[in-house]
Amino acid sequence: MAEFLVLGAGMVGASSALALQARGHNVVLVDQQQAGCETSYGNAGVIQAEAVEPYAIPRDFKTLSQFALGLNNDVHWRLSGLTSMLPMLWSYFNHSQKRKHQRISQTYSQLIARSTMDHQKLIEASNSPALMTKKGFSILYRDEKGFESGVIEANHLHQEYGVSSNVFSGQQYCEQEPALLSAPTGVVHFTDSWSCSSPGDLTKAYCRLFVERGGRFCQGNANSLKELNNGWAIETEDGTVQAEQVVVALGPWSPEFLKTFGYDIPMIYKRGYHAHFVSSEPLNRPFLDASNGFVASSMKDGIRLTTGASLVKRNAPIETSQLDHASRALAELLPIEERVKEPQWFGTRPCMPDMLPVVGQAPKHKNMWFHFGHGHQGFTLGPTTSELFAELVEGRSNSLLEALSPTRF
Ligand SMILES: Cc1cc2nc3c(=O)[nH]c(=O)nc-3n(C[C@H](O)[C@H](O)[C@H](O)COP(=O)(O)OP(=O)(O)OC[C@H]3O[C@@H](n4cnc5c(N)ncnc54)[C@H](O)[C@@H]3O)c2cc1C
Repeated sequence: MAEFLVLGAGMVGASSALALQARGHNVVLVDQQQAGCETSYGNAGVIQAEAVEPYAIPRDFKTLSQFALGLNNDVHWRLSGLTSMLPMLWSYFNHSQKRKHQRISQTYSQLIARSTMDHQKLIEASNSPALMTKKGFSILYRDEKGFESGVIEANHLHQEYGVSSNVFSGQQYCEQEPALLSAPTGVVHFTDSWSCSSPGDLTKAYCRLFVERGGRFCQGNANSLKELNNGWAIETEDGTVQAEQVVVALGPWSPEFLKTFGYDIPMIYKRGYHAHFVSSEPLNRPFLDASNGFVASSMKDGIRLTTGASLVKRNAPIETSQLDHASRALAELLPIEERVKEPQWFGTRPCMPDMLPVVGQAPKHKNMWFHFGHGHQGFTLGPTTSELFAELVEGRSNSLLEALSPTRF
């Protein structure tokens, strides 16, 4: 019998398996697909050293009315999506109050501060430096007012958390990023963030490292998990696997899975889409178009455009209005050619109402652990919360881990 069964081989599960293994534990990692095929595949691939404050709901009337009227491409919604998540969204709105958000950011910024360092060890060990670019992440503003508030925000992040950035006029930035067809009004370039040309491949490389170090990866459905007297059993393509303890790292699928075990997890599902475009000129670094709510990054399949949040039911049909708007805006900025033909991808950011991931022992089961809810920055934070998680398993706790505990719900 193994000691740990980790369910879900996204960035969070693969990193959890590695962190437990590094402490001498016998671990089996299980996913119904290959590693890194879902949210950890389709994201914007930014290791966001600048994201020290988690994404809060704007509370000013102007932005909220723009969201309500569908005038802001950052957020798209459907009434059925809002009503299905109403209590969670209300709690999210409350946690977005300035004071509460500041307190949450104290915790969040400590996680983000070590994220590149925690990735670096795994990037080196998994022989993945070629997937990484360390040239930062930029925010492009297309209007003076937005640019001014972007500069104020960058100064605040520097003073409060030491986040480094450079400010450029649009013309100056075009010299840094020759692919740009037209100059934005201004740009804030966060210098310490990293980007990945294939987030799914990086996740797969971490999983491969786990296997090379003696770990076992199996394909199987988490829904076949059964509780035994002394542990857990799951059906996999390699037969039944048993383990003393189970770690739930199923990202946005975690709440649904945990219903069977008597847990009601308040998650907000923020859907995002991506598309790839052929381009003769790659980008030096990814950017967010602040006026049109999308991120563009150079990836192995072309320029990847990822959209903001769509608040819809989990099984809602594909709707491409956000993506279409963003694609038109992208064509104004970059010399993109045709769209790459591929099935339409979408994924779900697994967001908690208090914007913090969930890391810790399941309240009703001694031998079950929760590790999910990384929202907008799970690709960034997977290795960091995994290190903390493995320390917790070893019996070490601290105030950071207390803030992430599942008992807070
Ligand atoms: C459009 C978009 C852009 C983003 N951009 C960024 C970014 O630039 N930087 C950043 O840090 N974060 C970004 N994120 C967020 C980030 O991608 C997620 O927070 C992160 O990938 C979550 O990782 P995870 O391992 O928890 O979940 P996942 O990667 O979704 O992993 C969960 C795993 O569980 C498996 N699974 C599900 N059900 C079952 C089952 N029944 N049995 C077995 N296995 C199962 C799935 O196959 C999957 O492999 C973005 C998200 C989106 C949607």
